[in-house]
Amino acid sequence: MARQLVVGNWKMHGSVGQVRSVVPELARAELGSNVSICMPYPYLSLAKSLLVDTPVQLGAQDLCEFHIGAYTGEVSAAMLADVGCELVIIGHSERRRYFGETSETAARKVRAALDAGLLPIYCVGETQEQRDAGVARDVIADELKVLSGVPTSLYAVAYEPMWAVGTGVTAAPEQISEMHAFIKQTLSQHTCVLYGGSVKGNNAAHIMAVDGVDGVLVGGAALSATEFLRICRAA
Ligand code: PGA
Repeated sequence: MARQLVVGNWKMHGSVGQVRSVVPELARAELGSNVSICMPYPYLSLAKSLLVDTPVQLGAQDLCEFHIGAYTGEVSAAMLADVGCELVIIGHSERRRYFGETSETAARKVRAALDAGLLPIYCVGETQEQRDAGVARDVIADELKVLSGVPTSLYAVAYEPMWAVGTGVTAAPEQISEMHAFIKQTLSQHTCVLYGGSVKGNNAAHIMAVDGVDGVLVGGAALSATEFLRICRAA
């Protein structure tokens, strides 16, 4: 069986100095192509240059749905591919919460990513209030339905319950397996479904052993080489 995916997401963290200290450690660690790291735009080229001759993949955290043109401040899928990205996170809950991302805009970004040859990682997840109200599955189903018509083999889904992202609280194994099964039932049994939400070095193996988990999307713990490598080794 292929190894599970480990995708690091630096969010809006980092500096040239941090890229120069963390990325070479990943490059030296003899990781496989199942590992990738999603950087802020300004650090992509630098990170790529430090990953040369390694199978570790580079990703971005968002993109603009438009192909090219007068869209000041935006970055296209083709530009990401041009600087060496292989994947891109789309529809992250922080984009939805703070920047007005909707499932509809995210779906257009998924298509733009595919046109540029990037692997989109489409994020879904419910809030604590939605879970308490018993509508978590409805929320996820709604977020997924915009992808109908896109072959499920071309993208990955990250199930990231919003109450678990950056909180130190991970979803329980039964909550994870239940939602991953639901996502696979909704899309296809072969859909690659990652779990995200407070994955750390000390819980990664446990989470990756849960039924239906094809990998993890890692935020805070991806900023430390030691911590991230522990997670990579659990895959
Ligand atoms: P976290 O973030 O690991 O810091 O909870 C996960 C994510 O937002 O992708």
